[in-house]
Amino acid sequence: MVKGIVQGVGFRPFIYKIALENKLAGWVLNDSDGVTIEVEGNKENTSHFLEDIRKKHPALAVVNEILILNEETGITKKYVSFTIRESFAKENRQTLIAPDNNVCDDCLKELFDKNDRRYTYPFINCTNCGPRYSIIEDMPYDRKNTTMKQFKMCDSCNAEFTNPLNRRFHAQPNACFECGPKLSLVNNKGKLIVEKDVIEKSVALLKKGKILAVKGIGGFHLVADPLNAKTVNVLRTRKNRKYKPLALMSESLDDVKTFCEVSLTDEELLESKERPIILLRKKSSVALSKEVAPNDNYLGVMLAYTPVHYLLLKNNFKSLIFTSGNMSDEPIIFKNDDAIKYLGDIADFLLIHDREIYIRLDDSIARNIEIEAETVTQIFRRGRGYTPKPLTISNKFETGLALGSELKNTICLNRGGDFFLSQHIGDLKNQKIYNSQKLIIEHFKKMLEISPKFIATDMHPGFLSTRNVFEQKDLPVIQVQHHHAHMASCMFENNLDENVIGIVFDGVGYGLDGNSWGSEFLVGNYKEFKRIGHFSYFKLLGSDQAVKEPYRIALSLLFDSYKDQYKNLNLKLIQDTDSETLDLLYKMHAQNINTPLSCGMGRIFDAVSSLLGIRSVIEYEGQAAIELEQAIKVSDNYKETLEYMITEENGELIINSQYLFKNIVEYILKGSVDQSKISQIFHNTIGLVVGDMAEKIREKTKLNKVILSGGVFQNMYLTLLCLAELKKRNFDVYIHKNVPPNDGGISLGQLIVALNQRSN
Ligand code: ZN
Ligand code: ZN
Ligand code: FE
Repeated sequence: MVKGIVQGVGFRPFIYKIALENKLAGWVLNDSDGVTIEVEGNKENTSHFLEDIRKKHPALAVVNEILILNEETGITKKYVSFTIRESFAKENRQTLIAPDNNVCDDCLKELFDKNDRRYTYPFINCTNCGPRYSIIEDMPYDRKNTTMKQFKMCDSCNAEFTNPLNRRFHAQPNACFECGPKLSLVNNKGKLIVEKDVIEKSVALLKKGKILAVKGIGGFHLVADPLNAKTVNVLRTRKNRKYKPLALMSESLDDVKTFCEVSLTDEELLESKERPIILLRKKSSVALSKEVAPNDNYLGVMLAYTPVHYLLLKNNFKSLIFTSGNMSDEPIIFKNDDAIKYLGDIADFLLIHDREIYIRLDDSIARNIEIEAETVTQIFRRGRGYTPKPLTISNKFETGLALGSELKNTICLNRGGDFFLSQHIGDLKNQKIYNSQKLIIEHFKKMLEISPKFIATDMHPGFLSTRNVFEQKDLPVIQVQHHHAHMASCMFENNLDENVIGIVFDGVGYGLDGNSWGSEFLVGNYKEFKRIGHFSYFKLLGSDQAVKEPYRIALSLLFDSYKDQYKNLNLKLIQDTDSETLDLLYKMHAQNINTPLSCGMGRIFDAVSSLLGIRSVIEYEGQAAIELEQAIKVSDNYKETLEYMITEENGELIINSQYLFKNIVEYILKGSVDQSKISQIFHNTIGLVVGDMAEKIREKTKLNKVILSGGVFQNMYLTLLCLAELKKRNFDVYIHKNVPPNDGGISLGQLIVALNQRSN
């Protein structure tokens, strides 16, 4: 019995081949636990066969375990040959589902080979590539359990499918022009334009500056020519998205290199079978319209991963905008009808097909970060390519379900030590996304055939998922503090089941005192934690409104320090705000009208961004803070820091937010308005505070391991600074890799905390 990712990846034909090579008779069979094999032959051949399983298995397969169920000696001669048997469903499901993969080189060769019967066939695939997770409805992985069930294979396809030595042997989505899915081009009312030469027609439309909605693996993309400034602006207006960077797709590394800096490790990541969007530094002079990423030095770029992408790009475009096909804050659209209904207002035409997507998936987002001589890949959003591969530890836990956070929601379920972190689901405040969360939970439970014994969730009383979980009475609920979950998620992937120092910087998380936390210095383990320090609280003038309008936070901090003298400050922020608003906000601040307390590091970054005149009202989450980091010029290298103050209050170490902010104000008042320089100095100061605080905590606790977690650590400049400050002081520092540092990792953290709290 072989366990792991062994279905839908060419495992049985591989077993067939090596059985013949090793002169063994018997059979191989897929079942819900994995792959079961019975072989008959001499001892030497059998052990060689086992060695081959480990060493030579197909590229997409993952062999976790080989179990010898039964061993018999003596000559029995039960079998005359080796056969592949029909698969059957069994009760206990242990097998793993493969993620969706990019089209392989062999298929690409055929795609562009005029003499191949699949020349330009947009759905070419084989056992080594193609869609998996997104088309699987049930297990075991057989065509009848996928959205390919409606297509009956033609004789040629069937001959490949049944020949164990063919690359398409048991390739469940196998198809061709004659029998498989078809592309069609429709207008934005759903009226058919063409069924023939669809690609040529689509390319021509894109070249003319039209916007297309293109159906892919996990959903639709909105596609447009990034060289055409007018089109990019139309896309931005129709999508109601002025600033957020738009992702790009290219056909080859050479194409990407024409507009981005690409290191060797970036090349590897771009070409990996997961094909994530990766963040790459923009080259200084590029032909792309500036509107692709207006205030960002980085571009999100991915390589083509479906045959359709290759057909559109090859010899036609060096890159195309491939941004997710959704309305802002709504889930990515994955059904043809919905696409016509909703994306019809944004796209001029839709390039659709009749292979259904069963479960929606966004593109994954990753970046490489160079730490001294080492490159670490960090995943910011897990989706296509990564889901549903589990993250594994050796413990054997009971099964639980964690509901995650409200923003950037993911859910997580475990089966023993395998933790299945779902794809990025989105912002649960949106009803459609909330419904999508429910579907994904049910899908995971069915796929993995597990039923959780408890539900873990956030402590925030306002979260929809937390409120609703108490309406069910079947399962116990465990509430996990937000930053404890962040910390545990980072410990998990660094294998740290012990006491550590956790530094968690994010925007918001419900704290044990009812305030909004987010600049946390914690000490603890999976089970429990203690808050050792944080930045001092400040008022969010107008609560959530202050998150959307960071100038309110900047003003709040000014009011804290300067009281009614703030009006005399020679600051652009004051001059740019009308006096009525100033008076109103001042009154709110003085009388505590709708002014909840926060100490979120993300909010402090927002305030500084607004104070420097970089961004005062945001369009997307984290924008002000992101643009503050992006304001730092690569050529600048200021080492200066500002003064800060750490005091001990009620046993907690408090870094004075107001004092730090006032020092930035004074710096500006002295006449410096260099955004890059002040941003850099501010970052430097936070780095120093982190080093200093960690040392103070080490003195108290003797702990030397530090983890860095929370969405603020998507800031590369800050991450590198903190790493340097901590390493200089001889700390062992751990950062995120496979689990997002942002709220996408919260569900995993909640689950590991809850499991540990339950196993006394
Ligand atoms: Zn292939
Ligand atoms: Zn066919
Ligand atoms: Fe968070």
